[in-house]
Amino acid sequence: MSDHDHSHDHGSELSEQQLRVRALETILVEKGYVDPQALDAIVEAYETKIGPRNGALIVAKAWADPAFKQALLKDATAAVATLGHVSPVGDHLVAVENTPRRHNMIVCTLCSCYPWEVLGLPPVWYKSAPYRSRAVKDPRGVLADFGVALPKETEIRVWDSTAETRFLVLPMRPAGTDGWTEEGLADLVTRDSMIGTGLVRTPAEIAT
Ligand code: FE
Repeated sequence: MSDHDHSHDHGSELSEQQLRVRALETILVEKGYVDPQALDAIVEAYETKIGPRNGALIVAKAWADPAFKQALLKDATAAVATLGHVSPVGDHLVAVENTPRRHNMIVCTLCSCYPWEVLGLPPVWYKSAPYRSRAVKDPRGVLADFGVALPKETEIRVWDSTAETRFLVLPMRPAGTDGWTEEGLADLVTRDSMIGTGLVRTPAEIAT
C-alpha cells in the first residue's frame, strides 16, 4: 500500500497494486473460482472489523494507560510503532483527541488518504465526492447524516489528510468502563468513531 495516493495530482485514484488486485479478482470471478459475494464479505470484514481492530486497540490502550496516551498525542507514528504489529503508511500519523469542547473529524478533500495501518480499508463513503466536499463546509450536517448530534457548544474541527499526514481520532472514553480490560474497551471503539463520523458504543449498547 506504500504507493497509495502519494501524489494528489495523478489521474487515477487506484494504485498499480490496487489495479493488479482488481484484475486478479475479475479473472477469478469470471472463471468461477471465486464467488463475488464472498469477496464482498471479505472486503467488508477488512473495512469494518479486521482493519479497524488495530486502531481500536490503540484507542483502548490510550484510555487505559495515561503514559501511552501522552505519547500517542505527542507522536502517534512513534507510539503506534512501539506496539510492533503496525507498519506505517505515511510519514506522520497524528492522533487528535475528542473532548467535551472539541470533536474531531477526518477527511481527504482531494482523494482518499486514510490511515490504513490503523483503520484498514477506507469505507466507500470516505472516498465519495459528497463526503469530501461537505465534511469541510458543513461538518455538523454530515454528522447529522451519520446520526450524530453533538451539543451546540462542542466545536467541530475537520482535519484534511494528505499522503504524508494522516489522522486518527481518539474518541472520549465512555462512562461506566472503570477497570475494563483493553480488549473489552476496544470492543466499544467503532471504525467511524476513529474517523469522527461516529461515536463509541456505550456499555449499555454492547450489553443488548
Ligand atoms: Fe488523498
